Amino acid sequence: DFPALMLDEADGKVTASIRRLTESDLPEGEVLVKVEYSTLNYKDGMILNGLGRLVRKYPHVPGVDFAGTVETSASPEFKPGDKVILTGWRVGETHWGGYGAKARVKAEWLVPLPHGLSTRQAMAVGTAGFTAMLAVMALEDHGLRTSDEGEVLVTGAAGGLGSIAVLLLSKLGYRVAASTGRDSLGDYLRSLGATSIIDRAEVGLAPAKPLLSERWAAAVDSVGGATLANTVASLRMRGAVASCGNAGGIEFNLTVLPFLLRGACILGIDSVMAPKPQRLIAWKRLAELLPLDKLDSLTTEIRLVDLPEAAAKILKGDIKGRVVVDPNR
Ligand code: NAP
Repeated sequence: DFPALMLDEADGKVTASIRRLTESDLPEGEVLVKVEYSTLNYKDGMILNGLGRLVRKYPHVPGVDFAGTVETSASPEFKPGDKVILTGWRVGETHWGGYGAKARVKAEWLVPLPHGLSTRQAMAVGTAGFTAMLAVMALEDHGLRTSDEGEVLVTGAAGGLGSIAVLLLSKLGYRVAASTGRDSLGDYLRSLGATSIIDRAEVGLAPAKPLLSERWAAAVDSVGGATLANTVASLRMRGAVASCGNAGGIEFNLTVLPFLLRGACILGIDSVMAPKPQRLIAWKRLAELLPLDKLDSLTTEIRLVDLPEAAAKILKGDIKGRVVVDPNR
C-alpha cells in the first residue's frame, strides 16, 4: 500500500486526512505512475478548501500536477521506467491527482520529462510555471521582442506563476517590472532578474481614465480584476497582456479605447486543456531556459501532512515562489 492525502465532504465541509491506499483503489487509466513529486498551485488551495465547486465527487485525491516514473503501461507510448509529467486535464479535480505516492491516468495526459530537468525540478515548475511559459510564448507570438521599448510587467510576481514568469522573461533579455504586495520580497524578485519592483497598489487600482500613460511593452497577469484593467490601460502601442489568473478577482471594468486607440490585446492563457504539441514545446523551452540554481532557490519542499496549512496560505497570497510536495513522506 501507499500514502495519499484524501478529501472527504460532510455537510458541505471538506476535510483532509492521510490514508493508505492500494492500487485497486485508484481510478481507471492506462498508465500507473510512481509519483515522485507533486506541487501546490492556487487551484490546489481552492480544492483543499472545498472552494469553486471544482471537485464534485468525494472521497477525492487532489493534486493537479505530478511527476514520476511509469510502473505499468497499457499504452505503446510509455513503458515502465519512463519519467513523465502530468499537468492539467482537470486531474486533481474530476480525476484523482498527484497527492498520493501512486496515480493512474490516461496516457494522452502525460508528457515525457524533458532532458535536463529532474522530476523535482519539473514540479518546481508545475502548472504555475508551465502557464508562465505559455504566457511568454503567447506574447512572443503576438510580436513581443526584447528590442521593444518599455518594461514587461509581471503581476503577483512573488507567487508561483509570477516568480517563474520573472525568471523566464529576464533570462530571455527583457526588462522586467515585478509587481508585488509584499515589500519584503523586493530582493527576492531582484535575485530572479526583476529590474524594477512595483508596489501592488500602484497597478491594482481600477483605471481612473480610459487610457493611462503608456508604460508596459507587455504583461503577464496572475491577478485579474482591477489589476488587469489597469494593465490594459497602461500598455504601450500594440502591447499585449497575457491574462493568466484571478488571485485578485474575476471581474474588471474597461472601456474599448485601449483596443481602438492603441491596438491593445488581451491574450487568454489556458494551461489545463493545452494541446500536446504546445505542451511539448513549452516543456522543452522551460528545460532550456530555466537557470536551475534560481529555480531551486524559489522552491520549498513540503510533505502531505503539511498541505492543509500550505493550502490556506496560498489562498491568502502568502506563499513565496513554488512549493513541491513529496507524497512519500
Ligand atoms: P500564487 O502562488 O498564490 O500567486 C498569486 C500571487 O498573486 C500572490 O503570491 C500575490 O503576489 C498575488 N495576490 C494574491 N492575492 C492578491 C490580491 N487579492 N490582490 C492582488 N494580488 C494578489 O498562485 P499561483 O499558483 O502562482 O497562481 C496564480 C494565479 O494564476 C491564480 O489565480 C491561478 O488560479 C492562476 N493560474 C491559472 C492558470 C491557467 O491555466 N490560466 C494556471 C495556473 C495558475 P504578491 O504577493 O507578489 O503580490
